[in-house]
Amino acid sequence: MAEGAWDAAVREVLVRVAEECPQEEAGPRLAAVGCEMGEYMVAKVEADQGLEGVSDCRKGCGWCCHAQVPVSRPEAEWLRDWMDTHFQAAERDDTLKRIARNLDLTKGRSLDERVAVWHRTPCIFLHENVCRVYPVRPLVCRAWHAVDKEQCRRAFLAREANAEVDNTPFRNFILGVVRDELARLMSWPGNGVLPLPEAMAFLV
Ligand code: SF4
Repeated sequence: MAEGAWDAAVREVLVRVAEECPQEEAGPRLAAVGCEMGEYMVAKVEADQGLEGVSDCRKGCGWCCHAQVPVSRPEAEWLRDWMDTHFQAAERDDTLKRIARNLDLTKGRSLDERVAVWHRTPCIFLHENVCRVYPVRPLVCRAWHAVDKEQCRRAFLAREANAEVDNTPFRNFILGVVRDELARLMSWPGNGVLPLPEAMAFLV
């Protein structure tokens, strides 16, 4: 199947979900369907290309979880619902404090300024180097991966925001298509995507 056909299939399915789903349930439903479909396509194409298992990403790594994560509104609504149903009060309080601290250090700052405080701004959902929202993590988190996690470690320690990290391109391509379509179907006021802390501050 050509890339253009995968792309068209994503758009067709998501538009149908948006049309059929009640407005108040549309965001989380779109994000869930988009992630499931995107992951299925990645698995299929990578298997066909003999790339199964080449990712070096492992639980407890987390170097990439210090970069800014842009999210569409459906992804953020799915995360909000997960927080509502899975977080204990202490986890919720901790997350709210981390949102405030992260915004204080990053909102309105240049890329260079944000990179300079990478070590102080881990993702609001990273706890002891493990993702608290892994089953509903954003599409960027699903797309970012490395065939050699040492490259991620070096990029983080050297503060290289644009470092080249070897990966498998179809994963980035198709999960990016899914996110763009989610953002097109349901946007933030004036924006297709927002940094994760800003998005969650808006919803929780
Ligand atoms: S949502 Fe999870 S996977 Fe994504 S950056 Fe945050 S901790 Fe990492």
